[in-house]
Amino acid sequence: MRLSRYFLPVMREAPAEAEIVSHKLMLRAGMIQQVSAGIYDWLPLGLAVLKRVERIVREEMNAAGALEILMPTIQPADLWRESERYEAYGKEMLRIKDRHERDMLYGPTNEENVTDIFRRHVRSYRQLPLNLYHIQWKFRDEIRPRFGVMRGREFLMKDAYSFDLDYEGARRAYDNMFVAYLRTFKRMGLTAIPMQAETGPIGGNMSHEFQILASTGESAVFYDAAFEEVDFDAPDLDIERLKALYAATDDMHDPAKCPVPADRLRTGRGIEVGHIFYFGTKYSAKMGANVMGPDGTETPVEMGSYGIGVSRLVGALIEAFHDEKGIVWPEAVAPYRVALVNLRPDDEACRALAEDLYGRLRAMHVDVLLDDTEERAGAKFATMDLIGIPWQVTIGPRGVKEDRVELKERRTGERHDLSPALLVERFAP
Ligand code: ATP
Ligand code: MG
Repeated sequence: MRLSRYFLPVMREAPAEAEIVSHKLMLRAGMIQQVSAGIYDWLPLGLAVLKRVERIVREEMNAAGALEILMPTIQPADLWRESERYEAYGKEMLRIKDRHERDMLYGPTNEENVTDIFRRHVRSYRQLPLNLYHIQWKFRDEIRPRFGVMRGREFLMKDAYSFDLDYEGARRAYDNMFVAYLRTFKRMGLTAIPMQAETGPIGGNMSHEFQILASTGESAVFYDAAFEEVDFDAPDLDIERLKALYAATDDMHDPAKCPVPADRLRTGRGIEVGHIFYFGTKYSAKMGANVMGPDGTETPVEMGSYGIGVSRLVGALIEAFHDEKGIVWPEAVAPYRVALVNLRPDDEACRALAEDLYGRLRAMHVDVLLDDTEERAGAKFATMDLIGIPWQVTIGPRGVKEDRVELKERRTGERHDLSPALLVERFAP
């Protein structure tokens, strides 16, 4: 992408309403803009990151054997009457009427919808286990939308739903998602601690929230220091041990009953980026989603649901990765991997080298942003630091004469000179 043709409305100062660093930086970097409380436009740079996050989530869900579907945002109230949640859900649900005065709603979650898919098509245990997921916008009329995309009213969620014949199967499905979640967050460079959680209006009795540590997190968290030594990447990761380690948010933590001695109890603040639930037959029993077992008897199917806050993750990533100059994207989610900063687009030699590098990097499918604008150098560097591209290459008249460019790593600030040929090699697949 050429910066001269891009749409990147960066701002020097963040609007006063932004309280936390991720919200400020997303506005300043021209990633999002507010349309209404808790409802945002995603501009090109923001959307590029959202898509990266979404892609990692999708790849890990697919790798775990879940199947992608797409359920609608608008659902009929009648489905929710079957599960008896239509009245129970409260004011967070946006209720609407269609032209025929039928009650509809903008989905805050999709248990009913997916249970309906299941009951229409699955009859036998032979079709199990099954895990269906989608990545779809949700609406929850939050009492206090704040912190930008972290607590929006409209937000993008990945929600998966597992179906099994019995508790044993459901538990395996739960553990499978548990591990997939650790992998997903790890791939984004994040360490998410699984914490025992309350099940809330979704219900059930086995539940974990995945919290990443950040000083601006909404919940206080308490966890065993042993988490600091866990290698979440280990191929033989022991999830039973992990589940047995103490970790809880403030609403679950009871100092009087906490099993971890004070010197090993860590406290901090967390951002909930994922939440998994086992809820058994809560929906299937009410909605008649039954399967035939090997012995010929019919029972309601055992279910669980597994959410990841895809749009919240974009904010959470910035909370985890920024400095005083701006965002510091981990490569896995960066909107562009390399920025080519041409200091003198009016200089023929600089222009030729910049174009040549741009063409060669693109030919290797490297995502590259070429700053071909007439801005002054200081402003160019400030913008690149603000938007957080991991690798910045500076092309200037002096370097061009000596056949070298400067490569800077955004994260460490380390710079070194190298020849254009070596630079291309550096980013070759
Ligand atoms: P919270 O406790 O933060 O209100 P929740 O427990 O109500 O969230 P879940 O039903 O568990 O949310 O939804 C799954 C995931 O969706 C959450 O872990 C979170 O990452 C994300 N999420 C939930 N509500 C919002 C929101 N208002 N804005 C952005 N992301 C959200
Ligand atoms: Mg939750």
